[in-house]
Amino acid sequence: MIVDRQGRRFRNLRISLTAACNYACTYCVPDGKRLVAAQDELSAQALVRGVAYLIEAAGIERLRITGGEPLVSPKLEAFLREVSGLGLQDISLTTNGQLLTRKLPLLLETGIRRLNVSLDTLDPQAFRRIARGGDLASVLEGLEAASAAGLKIKLNMVPLRGQNLDQVMPLLDYCLARGFELRFIELMRMGHLARDLNGFQQQFVGMPELLALIGARYEYLQADAPQDATALRYEIPGQGFFGVIANESVPFCRTCSRLRLSSTGWLHGCLSSSNRHFVGDLLDKPRHEALPALQRLLVRALGDKQEVAFSGGVTVMKIIGG
Ligand code: SAM
Repeated sequence: MIVDRQGRRFRNLRISLTAACNYACTYCVPDGKRLVAAQDELSAQALVRGVAYLIEAAGIERLRITGGEPLVSPKLEAFLREVSGLGLQDISLTTNGQLLTRKLPLLLETGIRRLNVSLDTLDPQAFRRIARGGDLASVLEGLEAASAAGLKIKLNMVPLRGQNLDQVMPLLDYCLARGFELRFIELMRMGHLARDLNGFQQQFVGMPELLALIGARYEYLQADAPQDATALRYEIPGQGFFGVIANESVPFCRTCSRLRLSSTGWLHGCLSSSNRHFVGDLLDKPRHEALPALQRLLVRALGDKQEVAFSGGVTVMKIIGG
């Protein structure tokens, strides 16, 4: 097992199935262009091999499928069918929910039981302004269908000053009423925001402000979370839970166990580092050749992790696999 001086190792893998997305969220995609998937994206089979090799080489236990938008990818079905046989402790998926109703039977059939659905507002006009693609009604329909089918749902919201702060309480109430756990993700200095610190600071809303907003209406207590969790969890007694991923306010780099594999075959050990390590070519090699080379690259990827705090990075989230 590869472990660093701080005792960190890779346990959680995020795989970006495709960089293509049917949204172009203002804070994620710089100029509103919905980049199409690059020609050199890996096949479903190569990505599954990547997961299998990383289970062995890095000790990966849990997988999150992300993107881009995983539900738009033609690789989704083949990937899900094969990856579910690898013996992982948990496989979950992050989606914007736009195609959820249509893809739900496949998700259920292939054993997906947990979803993170990104939704920044319940207001249709603000939705169009922020997501620059899709429609709110389809997401809400998908959420109801997934919930009725028994999936465990977390909702991800990025609070943005001037755009959706008025939605913090409506989204919290929406989630509490349905047993969903709302996750506030503090805006990260990623992609174009890493170069536009003014723009970042104008939009950024930190955890203390969020907790004050919520505390004005509800009493809440801090709840337990796994040691390497990225979210601080809170319980509103008798009503439910919410969490805050406080990259800026309460950095969690010291316990980070995440590794990312992009759809074009690059390993990223840290969101905040511009280093990346190409493994696409290794995934065509047999296990005994691939694993030693992979292990050498994993040592470097683990060394890319920040010691204490996230400081941002120029890679666009939809490319690195948010
Ligand atoms: N398309 C899927 C979705 O919408 O969930 C998966 C990919 S998306 C890049 C994953 C998550 O990253 C979303 O919840 C999105 O809001 C978040 N995200 C993207 N850019 C971000 C940024 N600069 N700061 C914080 N979160 C960001």
